[in-house]
Amino acid sequence: MNAKITAAEAKNCLCGCGQTVSAKASYRSGHDAAHCSMLLQGLVNEVADGRPITKALIAQEAKNLPSAPLQAKFRNAAERLMAKVAADEAKAVKKMEANA
Ligand SMILES: [Zn+2]
Repeated sequence: MNAKITAAEAKNCLCGCGQTVSAKASYRSGHDAAHCSMLLQGLVNEVADGRPITKALIAQEAKNLPSAPLQAKFRNAAERLMAKVAADEAKAVKKMEANA
């Protein structure tokens, strides 16, 4: 049996940090949370670019995560973000109305 570790047995950490993980792992320790944060930051950037966060977008981004618990964590955070954006918009509209 050949004990040499081939490139196929080590793979890159899913967060995109460039470090390798064993074939059984998806992430370096703690990098699953980092990946989640990165995807959330992507949503923040969408908002900054004037695009709305939709449930479809959240579902699409969640597919980048390898496990159901992680996807659920991301969806919860994304939905909180979506609610915050909506609240901020409502506040901005009120401010505009007050200044009109
Ligand atoms: Zn990583």
